[in-house]
Amino acid sequence: MSEQKLIAFMKNLKAKNPGETEFHQAVEEVAAEIIPFITANPKYSEAKLLERMVEPERTIIFRVPWRDDRGEIQINRGFRIQMNSAIGPYKGGLRFHPSVNLGILKFLAFEQVLKNSLTTLPMGGGKGGSDFDPKGKSDNEVMSFCQSFMSELFRYIGPDTDVPAGDIGVGAREVGFLFGQYKKLRNEFTGVFTGKGRSFGGSLVRPEATGYGNVFFAEEMLKTKGNSLKGKVCAVSGSGNVAQFTVEMLNKLGAKVVTLSDSNGFIFDKDGINEEKLAWVMELKNEKRGRIRKYAEKFGCEYSDGKRPWGVKCDAVFPSATQNEISKSDAEILVKNGCSVVSEGANMPTESDGVKIFLKAKILFGPSKAANAGGVAVSGLEMSQNSLRLSWTREEVLAKLQGIMQAIHANCLANGQEENFVNYAKGANIGGFIKVADAMLAQGVV
Ligand code: NDP
Repeated sequence: MSEQKLIAFMKNLKAKNPGETEFHQAVEEVAAEIIPFITANPKYSEAKLLERMVEPERTIIFRVPWRDDRGEIQINRGFRIQMNSAIGPYKGGLRFHPSVNLGILKFLAFEQVLKNSLTTLPMGGGKGGSDFDPKGKSDNEVMSFCQSFMSELFRYIGPDTDVPAGDIGVGAREVGFLFGQYKKLRNEFTGVFTGKGRSFGGSLVRPEATGYGNVFFAEEMLKTKGNSLKGKVCAVSGSGNVAQFTVEMLNKLGAKVVTLSDSNGFIFDKDGINEEKLAWVMELKNEKRGRIRKYAEKFGCEYSDGKRPWGVKCDAVFPSATQNEISKSDAEILVKNGCSVVSEGANMPTESDGVKIFLKAKILFGPSKAANAGGVAVSGLEMSQNSLRLSWTREEVLAKLQGIMQAIHANCLANGQEENFVNYAKGANIGGFIKVADAMLAQGVV
């Protein structure tokens, strides 16, 4: 019965959103858990809440013209998906990457709605970005692009309407340029962005929050087995914001991280990426904007070109680069090699068939919408601090982040318990859905 409903639901979604494969994938994974739940709770199915949730409240697509350093005009495409505002202003990052298209941003916005709901904070869901590639561009070119992008986006956002943040390709530098342009156009200093620099309203612990939060979530999952990350060998992918602070917190908790990657390949350092090596990576990636291959040259370890790190024998993995970076066969190899924890830092890094492998093997699998929610949670705390016009100490923000990750874990446990096994994917989907659905029900057909 539920299976037939899922097939009909997906057929309709695919017909309405042709070619948007990542969006189809994200919705199908959620709908597979939600349809049996709403069938058992007809107040949700009668109000067509799932059908409403997969339709963005608003989609904005715009032209972004800018001039490069040679004086040539370049044209990119800008997007903002305002997916759902039932529980708060739209909230979600901006991604600048050549692969960005409508389908990818709709998948991210849809996931963001449920993720933000799980954080316990009052934030709706959105996502945006551009097919602009900051790689290889000068600071001046990145600024020109950001100013042009914001010259259009500023009409649609605001501290009580829609509050963007960073994502792939949008770090401290880009957020600074975007915020500066918004302030100039509006003549207002408001908390319209999160992930801002410390000197203009940013929160302590925001840069660390996604990576740290993911490690806290993994530690909570391990606690249910009377275990911990101490002494565990870990594989991390990516080498950007999320990956860097995942490594930092894993080191603090006594784990050993042996891999990092970028879109060209991965390094394997059997001795572990310690604090000193991590500081070197941060400088390489955040300032010199170099490739991870350089790490192998500097520290004399293995580099595998064009490959991902999932063949390395390890106890726990923290995919922190991008969507669909763990295939079904990668998942099979990880399980075969004895990996017992997967905690997703990136959004939807595991293909649907890979998720099925992890669930079948009954390993601890923390899905992205729960495990990486620490970033947006501290963004929510940044919004609160901006509204109050004060800033909390590092200890205060860290304690709140830890409390939120524990609350998300408890929500997953409450909604994902199966016989002798916690299905965190199901728990996160149902837990995230209920709050948004109840708010939508209360607000009528809008
Ligand atoms: P960054 O831009 O800081 O880093 C991204 C890293 O992933 C880089 O090492 C990059 O390599 C690699 N990467 C990007 N695209 C690909 C690809 N197609 N194939 C292989 N490697 C790739 O981004 P973040 O660290 O902020 O984001 C990483 C992931 O975490 C994303 O999925 C993002 O949505 C998610 N996330 C981020 C949050 C945040 O607070 N920043 C919050 C929640 C989720 P290269 O430099 O070669 O491109």
